[in-house]
Amino acid sequence: MTGKDQSALDKVIGELVAANRILGNEGVCDAYGHISHRHPHDPTKFLLSRSRSPELVEPEDIMTFDFQGNPQDGRTDPMYYERFIHCGIYEANPDVNCVVHSHARGVLAFTISDVKLVPVVHTGASCGCEMPVWDIEDKFGATNLLVANVDQGRDLAKTLGKNRVALMRGHGFAAAGRTLSEALRISIYLPQNAQTQMEAMLLGGRFKALTAGEMEVRAAAGPDGSDIARAMQYWARRANCEHFLTYKKSV
Ligand code: MN
Repeated sequence: MTGKDQSALDKVIGELVAANRILGNEGVCDAYGHISHRHPHDPTKFLLSRSRSPELVEPEDIMTFDFQGNPQDGRTDPMYYERFIHCGIYEANPDVNCVVHSHARGVLAFTISDVKLVPVVHTGASCGCEMPVWDIEDKFGATNLLVANVDQGRDLAKTLGKNRVALMRGHGFAAAGRTLSEALRISIYLPQNAQTQMEAMLLGGRFKALTAGEMEVRAAAGPDGSDIARAMQYWARRANCEHFLTYKKSV
């Protein structure tokens, strides 16, 4: 690997470590949940931590996987059971570069209800108009509800389609970002959006979701919208992990 390639890889690894800690710190992931990034030098591979809680992830924990979920580089560390979520989504979506899986409390009710989760606040616009619910039972019958193999990951990706978020029945969600910051923005604001919709419904009246026109205006701003650097700096400072944003592997 050339020095330039190594520094591009270091940059992604550093940002991915920071993103892990941010998701832990913001309560999107707890002991469980994960975030991956497509490999910067090989679009058929992705980077994901060994089996570790996101808030504790270090650069050395980041491993490389293929779309069958096989670890590369001879690593034999314990792996996330549900890495197939990432396999399926990257395989089906060449424009997706960052995937998050979370069990965030705020969205869970919408994964088991026939009330449709929709974007209701402007920060929720990144989540997209449609957030389909994937029910593992439909195709795979009685399981432990976890995405445990390539077929299940592909089926989840099929339900996700070209949307940014798939809810997972009785489980959580998977988010697909074109950039790492988009994936973070979606994952942090999705539970807030869900909570707000639920509170509005508890008020008993009708609620107004973002309109199709408003969603178009937001989409035109691109995956990172405006001022994402400000948000990254804020999230990273709160999680005390700003130094990983300029990470360089020591040789
Ligand atoms: Mn899970």
